[in-house]
Amino acid sequence: MFVYADNAATTSVSRTALDAMLPWLTEKYGNPSSLYGFGQEAREAVEKARQTLASCLGAASAREIYFTSCGTESDNQALNSCARLGARKGKKHIISTRFEHHAILHTLKKLEKEGFAVTLLDVHEDGVVRVEDVAAAIREDTCLVTVMFANNEVGTVQPIAGIGALCRERGIPFHTDAVQAAGHLPIDAEKMDIDLLSLSGHKFHAPKGVGALYVRKNIPLQSFLEGGAQERGKRAGTENVAGIMALAAALQESCENMDENAARVTAMRDRLIAGLSKIPHSRVNGSMEHRVPGTVNLCFEGIEGETLLLALDKAGICASSGSACASGSLDPSHVLLSLGIPYELARGSLRLSIGEYNTDKEIDYILETVPRTVESLRALSPLWKEYAEGRREHLC
Ligand SMILES: *Cc1c(COP(=O)(O)O)cnc(C)c1O
Repeated sequence: MFVYADNAATTSVSRTALDAMLPWLTEKYGNPSSLYGFGQEAREAVEKARQTLASCLGAASAREIYFTSCGTESDNQALNSCARLGARKGKKHIISTRFEHHAILHTLKKLEKEGFAVTLLDVHEDGVVRVEDVAAAIREDTCLVTVMFANNEVGTVQPIAGIGALCRERGIPFHTDAVQAAGHLPIDAEKMDIDLLSLSGHKFHAPKGVGALYVRKNIPLQSFLEGGAQERGKRAGTENVAGIMALAAALQESCENMDENAARVTAMRDRLIAGLSKIPHSRVNGSMEHRVPGTVNLCFEGIEGETLLLALDKAGICASSGSACASGSLDPSHVLLSLGIPYELARGSLRLSIGEYNTDKEIDYILETVPRTVESLRALSPLWKEYAEGRREHLC
């Protein structure tokens, strides 16, 4: 059996998204900047897609949507732009959290080298940031708060509307990396007082290589790329017309079916949690209550996450131990450590992220394969032996 359970890393392109993009690759290949009708047809389609995104995200106007190449680009642009704006006013302090995606953390590191002060908030053991902690970290010179909507490794959802209201009251721009939330959770930029929001198509069944950044109209945005007048002069370069069509179609489809998908996916996820948490000396990471439908993260004592992944791969299961972007390093995930999970336990982590295309049969297969695999790896593990012989205290 082959089971894809790594939807937080990427998703398949849906039929709807593929159908929406194909004509723009073949018969309707005009350049949206060309003045003849063949080009203008593409221009109109791009503007319609912009309107679709605005509606799905609760933006006041389509003019607040910029198309980008990925979530990483949107995150980089949002942070760099707000930092420049702040610096011009003598404000050089940024608030974020310890468990952001590297697209945020590495940009913050770069800004720190350029003289910005960065406060990274602790996330509590449940993987949820507290609004009070954000409030306590605000300074006179705070020019940006950036907190992710939903975490990509543990799947916990943050109090975005609360942080948004706080930032609005204090007059501080608020950005959220909503890459794991868009298409999966209700988003309303106006109601949630979000000023900037990043999303990426390939996390909700659009292709890789297309994303968007929402920027509220009163937030001045720096230009991303210099050149032509595309994206209102902010991001030059001929539009990825086909990708944009797929992005809009996939987001619309996800939003229209959100409740139904969430109910089905949540039920499968809860079966995974119920079954896998029965494995002795395991723990489920992050809040049960504030959680995206599809993501489960567990730690198993006495084994290495990477070894577990390879064994699961042999059994046909695609999963992850942390985020795909951090793989290759043997250090435990910064996300799990930020939840206060001890180092040696954090190394034995498993993330399963399922979606609406998964089936109950696949969940059965995971439930049968993971416990058996954990058991056989423990039988070979010197670390597990230390636990089993009482030379090491169990952590869970
Ligand atoms: C995947 C992901 C990104 C990066 O998106 P890309 O489109 O792959 O660049 C950023 N943030 C989070 C939370 C993600 O899950």
